Amino acid sequence: SKPVVAIVGRPNVGKSTLFNVLAGEMISIVKDTPGVTRDRIYADVDWLDRDFTLIDTGGIEPDSSDIILSQMREQAQIAIDTADVIIFITDVKQGLVDSDSKVADMLRRSGKPVVLVVNKVDNFDKYMADVYEFYNLGIGDPVPISAASRLGLGDMLDAVIAHF
Ligand code: GDP
Ligand code: MG
Repeated sequence: SKPVVAIVGRPNVGKSTLFNVLAGEMISIVKDTPGVTRDRIYADVDWLDRDFTLIDTGGIEPDSSDIILSQMREQAQIAIDTADVIIFITDVKQGLVDSDSKVADMLRRSGKPVVLVVNKVDNFDKYMADVYEFYNLGIGDPVPISAASRLGLGDMLDAVIAHF
């Protein structure tokens, strides 16, 4: 069956924006999963003839930092249990935060392939220097993207399918 790719990250980093872009625009075939009637969290994505199922793990967006961390751990655990590759999204405008590091530790220990993505790099010249701090997470090279401006998505998808 098709590989499963899960998107994990804090509230507001752009998980759903990325999901919608990949589900709605860059792909040739989109099929809704039957039974998912509220927020669509599964999409079939086709990149360079490599099909995969994409999951947006962020449903309820909590507002207390304790809840954010526990929910991120839960999302990460779901991704670790169900995904073949995990897209871990961070936010260049917020920078590296403690909950990013804690989730990165879980993902690293799981041994699952992780593509570390730094979103909101809306201008590569202006923000690229801020991307380098994400190397400190110790889960590989950060891939800069702007989901909103559709920048860097090809390089990101190449990094994802390289793990299939
Ligand atoms: P989620 O909570 O992780 O699912 O994040 P959302 O996809 O709901 O996005 C949160 C906010 O970030 C929204 O206001 C988006 O418009 C904004 N956003 C998402 N991607 C980008 C981006 O590439 N650049 C900028 N500047 N804003 C973005
Ligand atoms: Mg969301």
